[in-house]
Amino acid sequence: MSLFLHQIWRNVALHQYRTQDLRKSLNDSLEGDIRDFLINEAELHTYDDLTKVNPVTPSTVLKCLQARYSAKVFYTHAGCTLVALNPFQPIPHLYSLDVMREYHTAPQPQEFKPHIFIVAEEAYRNVQGQVEPINQSLVVSGESGAGKTWTSRCLMKYYATVATSSQKCQDTVEKIERRVLDSNPVMEAFGNACTLRNSNSSRFGKYIQLQLNGSQLLVGASVQTYLLEKTRVAFQAPTERNFHIFYQMMKGATEKQRLEWMLPSEQDFAWLPHAEKTLEGLLQLGNVYFSPASEEAQPCDLDGHSKAADLLQVPLDELQSCLTVRTLLAGKQSVLKPCSQSECGVRRDCLAKVIYAQLFDWLVTFINNSMCADSSMWCNFIGLLDVYGFECFLLNNLEQLCINYANEKLQQHFVAHYLKAQQEEYVTEGLQWSFIRYQDNQGCLDLIEGSPSSIFSLLNEECRLNRVSDAKQFRVRLQKELSDNTSISWDKLSKEPHFTVAHYAGNVSYQIEGMMEKNKDPVPPEIISVLQKSQDSLLHSLFADGDRESEGSRGHSKVVTVVSKFKNSLESLMKILHSTTPHYTRCIKPNPDCRPLTFKKEEVIAQLEACGIVETINISAAGFPIRIPYGSFLQRYGLIANTRLTARMNRANTHVSLTGPEMSDQAVLGSAVEDVLNLVLKRRAPNSTLSPD
Ligand code: ATP
Ligand code: MG
Repeated sequence: MSLFLHQIWRNVALHQYRTQDLRKSLNDSLEGDIRDFLINEAELHTYDDLTKVNPVTPSTVLKCLQARYSAKVFYTHAGCTLVALNPFQPIPHLYSLDVMREYHTAPQPQEFKPHIFIVAEEAYRNVQGQVEPINQSLVVSGESGAGKTWTSRCLMKYYATVATSSQKCQDTVEKIERRVLDSNPVMEAFGNACTLRNSNSSRFGKYIQLQLNGSQLLVGASVQTYLLEKTRVAFQAPTERNFHIFYQMMKGATEKQRLEWMLPSEQDFAWLPHAEKTLEGLLQLGNVYFSPASEEAQPCDLDGHSKAADLLQVPLDELQSCLTVRTLLAGKQSVLKPCSQSECGVRRDCLAKVIYAQLFDWLVTFINNSMCADSSMWCNFIGLLDVYGFECFLLNNLEQLCINYANEKLQQHFVAHYLKAQQEEYVTEGLQWSFIRYQDNQGCLDLIEGSPSSIFSLLNEECRLNRVSDAKQFRVRLQKELSDNTSISWDKLSKEPHFTVAHYAGNVSYQIEGMMEKNKDPVPPEIISVLQKSQDSLLHSLFADGDRESEGSRGHSKVVTVVSKFKNSLESLMKILHSTTPHYTRCIKPNPDCRPLTFKKEEVIAQLEACGIVETINISAAGFPIRIPYGSFLQRYGLIANTRLTARMNRANTHVSLTGPEMSDQAVLGSAVEDVLNLVLKRRAPNSTLSPD
């Protein structure tokens, strides 16, 4: 890579700030030449890197991606990021073993067509490090249905293929590869569901560490999950489904199991819409109803209750009472207060959610135990992060706030890392360099998670004070405490209390109603104590140590809120990411209906904005986006200074062959290139030179 074009663009950038005339002159001459050289609509689909598109605007980037998509080219570089367009149909041979081997064995895979395997291979080669191993992270982001999970699976298959010993006798290694790959369908069964936007939507975030030994072989893996959407167990939006596992269980159960689990063959469970293990107990809970008595609710269908109690193996009377009666502490006395019908429903849903969430965590631990290698066996890792993308629905609440907060963190990490990597390269190449200016999202992060006052801290305070939360009052508090932050605003005319956050990817309005309750995520202590009495060994073990904080059980100051937990787990993740070399892949969903090979401009442009691609390219463009080796440049532009160039080359005993640059003295070539540019500039603006000053 030559320094030369860097220098030109650095000067161009400086002059652009200093001299309008000169800028015009440059635009007319050199930039014009380069633009012609770079922009050619008929060839847009051949641009492997979006940084070559000039000027970089949402529409030129879009055009380029559309041209490539039409040409069935689904991967495009965007500087250090890879953009992956979802074809929504299997593309023959795109991910075959042969293609994997091709990328794996190529001396320079970067010279091949853009592909997720380039990213995979780059991380694989980097992990060895020149001096010591450097852990790598592959961050895959994008909106629901964009292809994150598909991409993660491709990456796992790639490593399970290339990071293996050729000696077939290595039994353990082979087993590990299988286990790592086999963990996917199990986790997806419990954590994925059919939603409006994706028939196999991941309802949790995950970070998988693939553990490699000193010989670069895959010897184990571990997985960390984030923010499972447990409300889905008891509530699904119209036309959406519950987690896959319930349907799989219904479909796969033998007659004997049906009897044992009390699964009537024809019955539609209330929590299992559109249907064609402790889990069966959860399903039965869905059919537990309460009578709408005026003062206190009673189970109106004893059959549902007794089936649920049987399957959960808890005493029926205790199950009923934990769902219908609340214990209040009045000093040292406890007082029993019957619940209303709606409160009973909330408690029933809470019971199901807490069981499912614990079960999911147990499953993750089980998977980890079966595939995690002993720490002495591995020395470095490649991490794969498959996280929910930026979300903006008609109604947004705490879940979206957490998800968008995670995306803000990742964006900050990305920008910081990307700029750092660029600046380091400039230093290596000896360029004088002033820092790139870019859009900083620290203000938004301060608003969400900062101290002393932020949305999270105020939400937590509400929770700690344990007062009856009122959305309107909370909005007033937010307004009072956060008025200095420009990333938050309020639509005063709106009837529902809400606030709007200016995220890097766009504005999102969050409703306040229900937010504080979601943050508390209360689990009545009576529910935990009933579950602790379960005769089912698994269920019992899930709650045996009672470490799940329950509402009011240990004093309010100790309640661990949803946002605190999420913030902590995200901070640990960010620490890991900071200690690794990251590689970013942005998945794009080209149409909302998951139709094969269909590119909808409005859809794509919204996602390009949401994932900050245009900004990424602009950051790159604010630096030195075009990098042409000296030799290639002289071949193309050398004619402008033909005589001087030849003399200079002769003096230095250096030459540029017209059939291809022969890399001789870089310094001589560099100054020859500078000569060419000075001539171009002089022709346009006689008093200027390329000197930065
Ligand atoms: P969510 O956030 O909802 O989990 P996601 O980004 O993980 O969404 P995926 O489940 O990976 O989305 O992809 C959705 C669907 O798109 C897949 O089930 C598959 O049918 C299709 N798909 C994704 N990527 C590709 C690809 N590279 N080639 C062919 N089909 C793909
Ligand atoms: Mg997914």
